[in-house]
Amino acid sequence: MPKKRCPKCESINTQRYGSYQTKSLKASGKRQRRMQRYYCLDCHTSFSERAEAKSTKRYEPSLILKAADLYFNAEASYRAVGRQLHIRPYQLFLWINELSKKAASPLRK
Ligand SMILES: [Zn+2]
Repeated sequence: MPKKRCPKCESINTQRYGSYQTKSLKASGKRQRRMQRYYCLDCHTSFSERAEAKSTKRYEPSLILKAADLYFNAEASYRAVGRQLHIRPYQLFLWINELSKKAASPLRK
């Protein structure tokens, strides 16, 4: 198990500090996931492992906004927007899903 780097002081002088369960609501239903907690021995802060790389991690926010803009305003399909921006249609689907959860869009339903 590699040492975790403290997000605050960047020390690797950290140790495991128990774990806890989180519940997240997915399209497929409720899911539980175990989160590992860590404690930094240098700055005495506890922190937790980041939830696994979010699907948006590798993408610029501006790209996501552009994709959403195209999708909603140009009424393009996932496939068409995906082709235009060189992203997978499924990736776009995830973004749109995420965005529509944050702001209930009047364009849906
Ligand atoms: Zn620290």
